[in-house]
Amino acid sequence: MSLVSTLPSTVQDANVGVIGGGISGLSFAYFLGKLKPNYRIKVFEQSDRTGGYIYSQPTQVPDAKSTVLEKGPRTLRGVSEGTLIMLDLLDKFQLQNTIMGVHKNAPANKKYLLSPSSKKLVQVPDSFSSLVRFISDPLGRSLPVAMGREFFTIHRGTGKEETMDQFFSRHFGKGLCDNILSAVMHGIYAADVSTLSVKAVMPRMVEIEHKSASIGRYAVLKALFGSSSKEKSDKPQLSTSLAKYQELFSPRLDLGKTSKFLSSFPMTVLKGGLGGLPKAIADNLPPNVEVVYNSDITSLEPSSTGKVKITYKDGSEEFDHVRSTINVQKLGSFIKSPELKEVFSKVPYSSVVLANVYVPQKNILPVSGFGFLVPKASVDESKLLGVIFDSEVEHSARPLFTEAVKKELTSSEVTSPERYKQLGDEVLASDPVITRPYTKVTFMLGGYMYDNENEFPTSTEIKNIVENTFNNIIKSPISDYHIEVGSARDAIPQYNVGYLDLKDQAWKLSKSQFNGALSFGGMTFADGVGVPDCVMSSFKDATKLAGL
Ligand SMILES: Cc1cc2nc3c(=O)[nH]c(=O)nc-3n(C[C@H](O)[C@H](O)[C@H](O)COP(=O)(O)OP(=O)(O)OC[C@H]3O[C@@H](n4cnc5c(N)ncnc54)[C@H](O)[C@@H]3O)c2cc1C
Repeated sequence: MSLVSTLPSTVQDANVGVIGGGISGLSFAYFLGKLKPNYRIKVFEQSDRTGGYIYSQPTQVPDAKSTVLEKGPRTLRGVSEGTLIMLDLLDKFQLQNTIMGVHKNAPANKKYLLSPSSKKLVQVPDSFSSLVRFISDPLGRSLPVAMGREFFTIHRGTGKEETMDQFFSRHFGKGLCDNILSAVMHGIYAADVSTLSVKAVMPRMVEIEHKSASIGRYAVLKALFGSSSKEKSDKPQLSTSLAKYQELFSPRLDLGKTSKFLSSFPMTVLKGGLGGLPKAIADNLPPNVEVVYNSDITSLEPSSTGKVKITYKDGSEEFDHVRSTINVQKLGSFIKSPELKEVFSKVPYSSVVLANVYVPQKNILPVSGFGFLVPKASVDESKLLGVIFDSEVEHSARPLFTEAVKKELTSSEVTSPERYKQLGDEVLASDPVITRPYTKVTFMLGGYMYDNENEFPTSTEIKNIVENTFNNIIKSPISDYHIEVGSARDAIPQYNVGYLDLKDQAWKLSKSQFNGALSFGGMTFADGVGVPDCVMSSFKDATKLAGL
């Protein structure tokens, strides 16, 4: 649900300011600019480039003209509303041929966890044999009994907001969080399960507990008596937001059908890197949107005329609405309101060190897969969160929109489940785009474990961690490699216990102090931390602001 206040109908040719030229700011400006050609929209970007954390850097390597090193996000995961909208935007910008998918049966869809005692990589089960291996390892050993016990017990919370750790330990014992869920949270939020709020991160689980008192029972009943007729229907139904997008932006592809087709592709990537997405939006902004680079905002406050005043290095300007998409601690450094400053200061952010590693001419990874995550039980002094096997993803990815797929997804005929499967299988069986052997991986380190550190590890220390990990965990010694170490400082907001209250307070203060003329997008106080969440929040809020 959008929390944005629609602009009063008395405001005709509105001036809208957007803070931040990452994917959130760009997509918000794009949607609003298209919906309201009479509005004037100014995007303030502090640096000299758009895209924010999305940054695909072409890099020279000895065995090819160049390769792309992703310095931030690289995949769009799962079938989500935001992903569907991004795919449609790329289609509109004539870039459909850059969209690639990793099929659920492709080698790169296997995932691994680092086992605590053996320091071996254990595959997350995707078959009976991998399940047997998983529950034979200390990682999964406690699971069968824990799940059985959960199934036969009634679970009720105390009504107090709980951490992920508290909630899941109540249901399944400590093992699930320490060995499995903590790894997933390391991968998404670089955060600690003992501080993350279950209600903020997995609200559905709290709802299920209210309804069924057991997650296991709910899952079994759902599997047996299952999905609603809406989910089963061959003619897919659109959510309210996607139906609105369809009405306002007339996508060429049928979004409902595309969503069914994409259910075989848990990962979407772009040829040339995810950076192609913000670049495409920036290149296709409507004429009523202007991007001001190297803008240095020094203050933001309500103006005497009931608008929002932004002061920046080239002067000051008043806006009918200001959309912030940046880290709220940064916003707090120049917003005048002491109450909002205080709320913003209470949202912690985690920092991640990234090391992109490239080995030319050979694949030295002994297993196929997306990579591995390190659960809390396996964390050591290296503070490694996980390693992504980029070369595996690049070798497994296939162009999604073949002629046959396009024909099916643009036709008005109902598509049968068998046909969706057949199309997915054909894409999986198609020729790979990249055939030359090489190894490319990204190490992610730190997150909440750097919270009390004044300095990040040096490049030499990171190099040692990389070499030790290849020797002792991946079990494949590494030599003659290219490495680039970088950091994403204060990058990911921590949705800790109390975060939802802070979000509520921030939106209420925007109403009382700015008359609703300040809104929040991006990773904080909006819909989530992933790129699809950010784009979806931009779409919903732009339409609400425009009163559509
Ligand atoms: C290491 C890492 C890996 C990730 N991997 C994935 C992934 O694989 N898939 C996924 O879906 N998501 C991933 N994410 C999350 C993803 O990066 C975010 O969803 C997305 O980048 C958020 O975009 P944004 O525009 O909201 O913010 P940002 O990308 O942070 O953009 C904000 C922009 O605002 C600008 N700015 C900052 N301060 C000011 C100021 N005072 N004035 C003007 N401009 C300012 C910045 O320069 C920047 O351009 C990852 C995040 C990180 C850190």
